[in-house]
Amino acid sequence: MKILLVFAHPESRSLNGALRDVAIEELTAQGHEVRVSDLYADGWKSEVGHADFPLLPPDARLVPVAASKTAFEAGALTEDVKAEIEKLLWADVLILQFPLWWFSMPAILKGWVDRVFAYGFAYGVGEHSDKRWGDRYGEGSLAGKRAMLIVTAGGWEEHYSARGVNGPIDDLLFPINHGILYYPGYDVLPPFVAYRADRLDEAGFTEVAEGLRERMRTIGTVSPIPYRQQNGGDYLIPSMQLRPGLGDPAAPSFALHLNETREALRQAGE
Ligand code: FAD
Repeated sequence: MKILLVFAHPESRSLNGALRDVAIEELTAQGHEVRVSDLYADGWKSEVGHADFPLLPPDARLVPVAASKTAFEAGALTEDVKAEIEKLLWADVLILQFPLWWFSMPAILKGWVDRVFAYGFAYGVGEHSDKRWGDRYGEGSLAGKRAMLIVTAGGWEEHYSARGVNGPIDDLLFPINHGILYYPGYDVLPPFVAYRADRLDEAGFTEVAEGLRERMRTIGTVSPIPYRQQNGGDYLIPSMQLRPGLGDPAAPSFALHLNETREALRQAGE
């Protein structure tokens, strides 16, 4: 398979850098072809701005969605963005690798998504009608491809468990896995997360590296996260709400981490 690894760490000699090398080595040993976008090393521009849309007159008001649509349709996105889109179309599998910074991805990687996931390519795709709400959440330009996250976190695994104070890792990664990767169609694989990353010793590194190698060996076969397809009948259109009767009403949510007494007072208006 063809694999694109987008790497977002400022230091190549970091734990992330070492894990990236482990992943590439294993993928290559398995016969896969790997390309890397090393965002810091490449000096990736992360912020969206006027300069991203060469066709837009300098004094024109910038409306990012409209400018993205026009530029994508005209083939007039900037060369750095076009190169990344070409890599995404080339790859069967996309890997995003990053350290968890403030419960999310480093800004440079968010900026890669903001600029590369253009209107008409990653969103604004497909028919919008009373039957369909675009090709998204399981359908879209990148459907049929796989994607996964490799993440390092300073916190303990327990801190990210169902009742952990940080919130469950699957909830924290939901905006990336579901909102960024599943949205344009990727089948999203379970993430690989290395916890307590700042205190890793040699034995810990060996264990994490072996876990990562195993995940790289099964990258083509492991079952994706079973998100519901938007247009598969589970959602009402146009409200896009899950149909009554579907889903476990007792499923936990972020509310688990609200102080019950203060929340009761808040709801009572006190
Ligand atoms: P490095 O600092 O490069 O390495 C960590 C340790 O790994 C090293 O000290 C070393 O012992 C070991 N190591 C590195 N390379 C090797 C090797 N080749 N062989 C053996 N051992 C090695 N954490 C959270 O959990 N949640 C957050 O919200 C969060 N927010 C953050 C925000 C910011 C701005 C920052 C800077 C950190 C944050 N952290 C958070 C912590 C962060 O996730 C970790 O610092 C990061 O994941 C560590 O990865 P690294 O590649 O930078 O590690």
